[in-house]
Amino acid sequence: MGTIVYVKDALEAVVTPDSPLLQDERYAPTLKKYAYTDSEGNLVLSWDIGKFVNHCCQANTLSTGYGFEIAVRDIQAGEEITDDYGLFSFDDEMSLCCDNGPCRRVVRVEDFDDNVARWDSLTFAAIRHLREVDQPLLSLLDDDVLTALQHDLDRDLRHADSLRSVATLRHKSEPITRTHLARRRMRQTASAVASLTPVMLTVTAVPVIG
Ligand SMILES: [Zn+2]
Repeated sequence: MGTIVYVKDALEAVVTPDSPLLQDERYAPTLKKYAYTDSEGNLVLSWDIGKFVNHCCQANTLSTGYGFEIAVRDIQAGEEITDDYGLFSFDDEMSLCCDNGPCRRVVRVEDFDDNVARWDSLTFAAIRHLREVDQPLLSLLDDDVLTALQHDLDRDLRHADSLRSVATLRHKSEPITRTHLARRRMRQTASAVASLTPVMLTVTAVPVIG
């Protein structure tokens, strides 16, 4: 818990909502399947296998108000790394079928407002562990994000509730394209992820993510 597991680094491909690629049949299906939508409405296509991370209603990683994703509980070696697609911007519904625990069955646009308090609770608890565990991705954070994070963590020690809400990721405009809707469900174990991408190196470095 507390390990940063995803950073939108400089190698991520960013496609603007008005890009002709979205009308290009050679590229549009790939974007629809694998890209996520950021708060500016851009599609972000991961260069590594981060793009294969699946949704789970009880996800073990979540996006934070600082943009990076964090492990919100300990993740065992071999356990699939999952995310909550409700945190991203949708303009349509997506059917879900989680294997474990209660499932929302559908991701809806309304999920963001319905779940933001719960996500904040989970991510704040994880961020408060951030300094206690190894952070191999920390150097990939933008300087301004790192500065804000350090400032907020220091302040949070004195004044609780000083961390940035994930509400900052809320989409700033109406989404133009549909993303994630056909995001492929592909089983990825933590060990498989780690073996293929240095961004997920934490997973192999320690059997249990702090
Ligand atoms: Zn579910």
